[in-house]
Amino acid sequence: MIPRSAAIPKTPSWQRQMARSFTRLSTLLEWLDIDRQKLPFECDDSSSFPLRVTLDFASRMRNGDAGDPLLQQVLPLQQESAVVDGYSQDPVGDMNAAVSQGVFQKYNGRALLITTAACAIHCRYCFRRHFPYQQQHLEQQLCDQTLEKLNVPDISEIILSGGDPLTLNDQRLAQLLLQLKQLPYLKRLRIHTRMPVILPSRVTPELVEMLRTFPLPVTIVLHINHPNELDKRVATVLHQLRHSGTHILNQAVLLKGINDSSGVLKELCEKSFDMGVLPYYVHQLDKVHGSAHFQVSRERTLELEEQLRKTLPGYLLPRFVTEIAGENSKVPINLFNH
Ligand SMILES: *Cc1c(COP(=O)(O)O)cnc(C)c1O
Ligand code: SF4
Repeated sequence: MIPRSAAIPKTPSWQRQMARSFTRLSTLLEWLDIDRQKLPFECDDSSSFPLRVTLDFASRMRNGDAGDPLLQQVLPLQQESAVVDGYSQDPVGDMNAAVSQGVFQKYNGRALLITTAACAIHCRYCFRRHFPYQQQHLEQQLCDQTLEKLNVPDISEIILSGGDPLTLNDQRLAQLLLQLKQLPYLKRLRIHTRMPVILPSRVTPELVEMLRTFPLPVTIVLHINHPNELDKRVATVLHQLRHSGTHILNQAVLLKGINDSSGVLKELCEKSFDMGVLPYYVHQLDKVHGSAHFQVSRERTLELEEQLRKTLPGYLLPRFVTEIAGENSKVPINLFNH
């Protein structure tokens, strides 16, 4: 007789944990001991971009503190529905850069793949929150037509993006990597993900091994905005990833009330470096509809960059950049005037 456990394919525990994320505001607030009546702002239970956060990430929020910098990143506010001049659905012109379904090329040498629409967290300021994922993510397997588009001398780096590419299971990732490693012009692979921080259990031994054996250099670009996002568990999985030979960088988004202070940014750069992560970018927020209340002024951003420059060694100083539709790279904020 076949044992029951052998007949049913086992769902990895990280997928079960992801399914158990907080998706209801009342449950999250109750769990954090926060009285909704006392919140200084109105929340929106019925947002079309609903609340989503893992237990891991929520456990790093401070109990009873409605102003917590991690909580602020996920709380759906009424304010998001405000229509603000200059804010739009596709502020960075991504839609104009599609070369094939799920494949975008805006910059020389690099193609970005929208591997999935799923994320383990819904970040309120996300520039992809209005993205038409249904039409614009890759199919299960890269089709011949897509592979043909990627198989050109001009594409030496492929960036797996989304959504979050590490929400794909190991099998799907393995399939994708197998297809990519057959591209003769490819020199580098990059993975843009929040998963090692949002759901550390996603970093399975199988994933680490897959990255270790990939024949090209692999860079993981994380997205950490505040030092409180980092704890011992995150440190452990980042160490495992580093051990597999991957480079790890971080891009943060500058967010009003969350990390718009030189003290917080300095601590973020130093603490992540302690865990093997090099600061890469601090992005000025893209003007996506619903995010205006997070915007930090250009003057303040320049001031923060200057303060950091004075306190950190050069290699720990992230590049402060903005994205301008039609430009062929991210643009250093001090070069951009408007
Ligand atoms: C940001 C981005 C990249 C990567 O840019 P780097 O400056 O190399 O990190 C590539 N493609 C698209 C569409 C991007 O938005
Ligand atoms: S993890 Fe990244 S893609 Fe997903 S909601 Fe957050 S910022 Fe957007």
